[in-house]
Amino acid sequence: MTPVLIVLNAGSSSLKFQVFDMPDEAEPRLAWKGLYEGLGGDAHFIVRDTNGAILDERSWDPGEELGHEEALMHLIAWLREHQEGRKLVAIGHRVVHGGAAFSSPVLVDESVLQSLEVLVPLAPLHQPHNLEPIRIVRRRLPGMPQVACFDTSFHQSQSDIATLFALPREMRERGVRRYGFHGLSYDYIASVLKHYDPRLAEGRVIVAHLGNGASLCALQGGVSIATTMGFSALDGLPMGTRCGAIDAGVVFFMLREMKLSPEAAERILYTESGLLGVSGLSNDMRVLRANAAANVDSRRAIDLFVYRILREIGSLVAALGGIDGLIFTAGIGENDAATRAEVASGLAWAGLTLDERANSTGGPRISTGAGPDVWVIPTNEELVIARQTRSVLSAAQTRLAS
Ligand code: AMP
Repeated sequence: MTPVLIVLNAGSSSLKFQVFDMPDEAEPRLAWKGLYEGLGGDAHFIVRDTNGAILDERSWDPGEELGHEEALMHLIAWLREHQEGRKLVAIGHRVVHGGAAFSSPVLVDESVLQSLEVLVPLAPLHQPHNLEPIRIVRRRLPGMPQVACFDTSFHQSQSDIATLFALPREMRERGVRRYGFHGLSYDYIASVLKHYDPRLAEGRVIVAHLGNGASLCALQGGVSIATTMGFSALDGLPMGTRCGAIDAGVVFFMLREMKLSPEAAERILYTESGLLGVSGLSNDMRVLRANAAANVDSRRAIDLFVYRILREIGSLVAALGGIDGLIFTAGIGENDAATRAEVASGLAWAGLTLDERANSTGGPRISTGAGPDVWVIPTNEELVIARQTRSVLSAAQTRLAS
C-alpha cells in the first residue's frame, strides 16, 4: 500500500484539494488535484490528473445543500473508490495564521485547535474557513492525523525590529505586530532556488508573489528578513481586490465621515479595492491587459500595481543592503510577461537588464548581463504542505517509537 495524504485549502465557499503519494524517503508525488466550489449554493466538484485531464466532475443543485462537511465526506468516499493500492494516512491543511506561537507546522490536537481559534480575530476572513475542515475531520474521521501548515511561519525569521509597529507596547502584547503571509509559497521558492542558481540561493533575493493576493519577500540566504504584508493579508501591494498599504487615517475617514460600519469598510478594503477598485472593471490582470489600450482606468490600475511593486522593491533592497536577484511567481508573476517587463524596466537603476526574448517565453532565466539575476519560478504551496505534513508525521512516529 502506498501511503497518501490529502492537502486541503479551504475558503468560504470552496475547498481545494491535492492528493499526494508518499513513496519512502522520496519527495511527495502529486496524484490528483481538484476543487469544490460554490459550496452552500450551486456546488461543483472537479478532479484532474497530473496532466490536467478531467477524471471526474459533478454538480449539485442549491437544494442539496452541499457544505464543507458534505464536500469533505464526498472527497473521502471518492478517494476510497479510486485509491487502488493507496491508503490515506494524514491530512495537511493550509492555515493562514499561526500567530507568534506557531513557528513551524504542527500536529493538531484539541489544544492546538483552540490556540488557532484564538487567532481568528487576526485573520477573520480566512482563519475560520481554514479551521472548519480540521474540526470536521476530527468529528468524522477520529484518529486521522492532521497537520496545520501556516502562511506566517516562514517569516518568523524576521528581526524583532522588522515586525514592530510604532504603537504603544500594550498593542504588541495583544498580538498587533507584522507577521507576513504567503510563507508557504516563499518556502517553496527558497527550497528550489538552489537548483536554478546555487550562488543566488545564498544571496540577497526579492521574491515577487504576484497573484490574486500579492506580496514581496526579501530572502537573505533563503531566509525571510522582511516582507510587504504585515498584521493582515491586506498590507503591502495592491492586489486583485485588496487595497494594499493605505494610510490608517483612511479607515477613520470611512468610519467617521462616511459612517460605514467596520464590516462595510472591511468589505471595501478586502473585496472592492485593488485592481478591481481602480479599474472599475476586473480583478483579473488578463482582462486589464486586454482593455489597457482602450480603457484608461484599466491602464491606471496596472500602472499603480507596477509603481507600488517598484516602491516596495526599493524598500526591500534597502532592508537587504542590495539585490542579487529577483524571482517572479504566482498567477501574474508566472504568466504576465508585460508586468515582468514593466517591473524590470523600473529597476534599470539597480543594473537589471531584461532578456526580452526569454521573458516573452517565460524564462526561467529572464535577465542578461552582470546585474541582478531575474527568474520566473512557478510556486507550489501544496507541495510544501505535503512536505511539512510528512515531516511532522515522521517526527511524531519517531517520538512514539523512542
Ligand atoms: P493566483 O492567485 O496565483 O492563482 O493568480 C491568479 C491571477 O493571476 C488571476 O487573477 C490573473 O490576474 C493572473 N493571471 C493568470 N494567468 C494570467 C495570464 N496568462 N496573464 C496575466 N495574468 C494572469
